[in-house]
Amino acid sequence: MNKKEALKIYKDQIKKMQAYYLAMATLGFDRLTIAPKDGSDFRNEMISVLDGEYYQVQTDPKFVEAVLYLAEQDLGKVMNRDVYLAKRSLEDVLKFSKEEMMEFSLEQMKGNDLWYEAKMKDDYSIFKDQLIKLIELSKKKLERRNPKKPSYDIFLDDFEEGMDQKKYDHFFSLIRKELLPLIKKINKKKGYIDDSFLYLYYPADKQALFMKDVMEYLGYSSSWGYLGVTEHPFTNGISRNDVRVTTNYDEHNIASAIFSVIHECGHAFYEHQVDPKYDDLIYIRYMSSGMHESQSRFFENYLARRKSFFKLLYPKLQEYFPENLENVSLDDFIRAINASQSSLIRTEADELTYPIHILIRYELEKDIFNGKADLNNLDKLWDNKYEKYLGIKAEKVFDGILQDIHWSDASFGYFPTYALGSAIGAQLIHQMEKDLNVDELLEKGKFNKITAYLKKNVQHYGALYNFEEIMKLATGEGFDPKYYIDYLKDKYTKLYDIK
Ligand code: ZN
Repeated sequence: MNKKEALKIYKDQIKKMQAYYLAMATLGFDRLTIAPKDGSDFRNEMISVLDGEYYQVQTDPKFVEAVLYLAEQDLGKVMNRDVYLAKRSLEDVLKFSKEEMMEFSLEQMKGNDLWYEAKMKDDYSIFKDQLIKLIELSKKKLERRNPKKPSYDIFLDDFEEGMDQKKYDHFFSLIRKELLPLIKKINKKKGYIDDSFLYLYYPADKQALFMKDVMEYLGYSSSWGYLGVTEHPFTNGISRNDVRVTTNYDEHNIASAIFSVIHECGHAFYEHQVDPKYDDLIYIRYMSSGMHESQSRFFENYLARRKSFFKLLYPKLQEYFPENLENVSLDDFIRAINASQSSLIRTEADELTYPIHILIRYELEKDIFNGKADLNNLDKLWDNKYEKYLGIKAEKVFDGILQDIHWSDASFGYFPTYALGSAIGAQLIHQMEKDLNVDELLEKGKFNKITAYLKKNVQHYGALYNFEEIMKLATGEGFDPKYYIDYLKDKYTKLYDIK
């Protein structure tokens, strides 16, 4: 095999993988948004057949040979990285048979369906056995992938290249030490900020109209995007120019959909703004989850919780809901969307208590995969952690262990990237403020200048670099959680007038 032949095989095979990816991603979006429930058994089985076909293409001996050959060549920065990521993925995939991969995918979808049913019926017993099964299957998978490495480290590295328990332990110990005392003080000032008007009645159809204004403000265009409705909001990057987002309307919490749409649009821009020259490659288009969450949390928190962000949008929101907001000033609205109190739902948590929700999940997952958790009592362990750290307990499993979708399809190790992403975002905004007049741009509705900045400094790279390298390029220094801690402490001591 020579370089030219190998590259041709590599690119031809990637094109096939992309075709399957397109089909599976479109079906995946469909099944979590509009697909009727009764079709799920058939649909899941057919998706798992497609997974099997994808496996066949990915592990085609001539592709494997080409990857191994190319991994030894110098192909330039971009191709070197794509081939490196392809090899890394292949090394894992080849440890499993097609049938095993198909079975696992089927169990994941079954997990999704049972979780949804359990959540809707507020009955953990519907999902419990499947969750335990997914944990056991995941443990076996990890054991085979690398028997020498602590299994949870493998998951952490899957979602954020280079991360492991040692690094996260350090990160979360800072969160615990620096933020918990402040959270306790602020919890004592319950009612200090009036945010009750956020929880009045906001009909979903009118909320949907406002979301159009929000998306227009952000520049999320229907020429490359689409907003769907689902139980647990997500973004689906089907291709660079087809990036769909979803939300969920809570008619008694207007902030919920607003911030979830903004969050998902942050993900969407990241997918959309990857360098077009990577369109023919596949691995370099898969960004790490931590970097992804840094972009979504950047939109959601570091931009959208500012007064300047709502200067143009808030009058429109008032027009849709005069009965609730006519007499609420922009300043009062901004204070309300930044209010902090311990609460049960991660996705609706304020910035300060948010990382504690992640800390809880991180500790639980660590215990699960280090063999220290009683799998029969995960719902109780969940509740105990909430009591220990936030002093609250869910009345319903709907608000407890069933609130998040991630465990239902065995996405263990994903949660920590939310806190990491938030911390990365704090460091990025610190840099952006030096380079741009952020408030002025937001006030004037020039959001395109912000997305252009993110494209130039972070997003166009795709997965060309890992997050530490991107941070160095974007800010001139490595990742440092101090920016995050300082930002939160400064913001919330001022907001709550804590001495
Ligand atoms: Zn996200």
